[in-house]
Amino acid sequence: MNKTSPIEPAKAMGRTVGCLSGTIGAGCMQIIGVLLCLTGIGAIVGIPLIIMGFAAPAVTGAITGEIMIKSSCPACGQAIEDIKKPGYDCPACGERLIAKEKTMYLARDIIDG
Ligand SMILES: [Zn+2]
Repeated sequence: MNKTSPIEPAKAMGRTVGCLSGTIGAGCMQIIGVLLCLTGIGAIVGIPLIIMGFAAPAVTGAITGEIMIKSSCPACGQAIEDIKKPGYDCPACGERLIAKEKTMYLARDIIDG
């Protein structure tokens, strides 16, 4: 009997991280946008930048929310929160883990068949 762990989408955490980075990016965009507006002709680029700045936190939050997963190491139970990818190394026990669909497997179980 192979050990596995279920994988859940970690939307709440992903959104928080996404919104934070989005807000920082948005702040930069808006500052650059305002500075460009001050140059007169720069307002052509500056105004869209300011508008994008308002939308960015929601957009990056939604995207990041889709790519974060939450699971645990099937070998030792260590909680794993990371971006969605095909394989992980457990930070606690060093086991190589393989993510398939919504289940986390030990790489050695898959290799052994
Ligand atoms: Zn582990």
